[in-house]
Amino acid sequence: MADFKDKPIKIAYLYEDLMNTYGDSGDVKVLRYLLAKEGYTVAVDNVSLGDPFDASHYDFVFFGGGQDFEQTVVAKDLLRHKATLANYIHAGHPMLGICGGYQLLGDYYKTASGTTIKGLGILPLHTVFKADSRMIGDTEFETKFGKVKAFENHSGRTYFDKPDELKPLGKMITGYGNNPEDGVEGLHYKNTIGSYAHGPLLRNINIAQAIAKLIVTRHQNRLSQTAVKN
Ligand code: GLN
Repeated sequence: MADFKDKPIKIAYLYEDLMNTYGDSGDVKVLRYLLAKEGYTVAVDNVSLGDPFDASHYDFVFFGGGQDFEQTVVAKDLLRHKATLANYIHAGHPMLGICGGYQLLGDYYKTASGTTIKGLGILPLHTVFKADSRMIGDTEFETKFGKVKAFENHSGRTYFDKPDELKPLGKMITGYGNNPEDGVEGLHYKNTIGSYAHGPLLRNINIAQAIAKLIVTRHQNRLSQTAVKN
């Protein structure tokens, strides 16, 4: 298959200007670095408030973390993109959502102030605030890509509504992950990963390399299809 190195790999960074807590944009930088080492150029589009967005034009979608206020603002705009993102995710194209971005893939996030932020509702999960603790600290968890070390800082507790349909990204060794009860971290559905891990997550090179590989495959498939159409 042609490698299409003459055409840039396209990354959509959803609300880059609003959703970037604790250096989550580092995830995109790590991927850019790994892909550049393979000889690819990478174009990153900040898809922000009011911008048009068609996920089928992209090889990777990134959605970083955000504070409750930013999530409220973003969520109002985000629902416009539900269909295109649902198609992209269910087709098995690569996406990573961190913390607030992960939460918004689900049905809703009930915040500390009692506001319910409506999420995309693409994956069967929801997130709720409980007053007794904020989940802060170093985390370590085991994934199918190997061990991951990161840190978390969130008040939302995420629960899977259809546990047979969704798999967690990992099993906790240290820290809370999705919530204090389940002992699991994040979500792995087809090639979409959701996680509470900051640090950024992709400083864990095992997981970064796996995602970079998926992006290259998606890039080649997307451009082969375009070539057939033309
Ligand atoms: N505001 C959300 C929470 O506290 C997400 C935080 C984040 O993205 N860092 O749960």
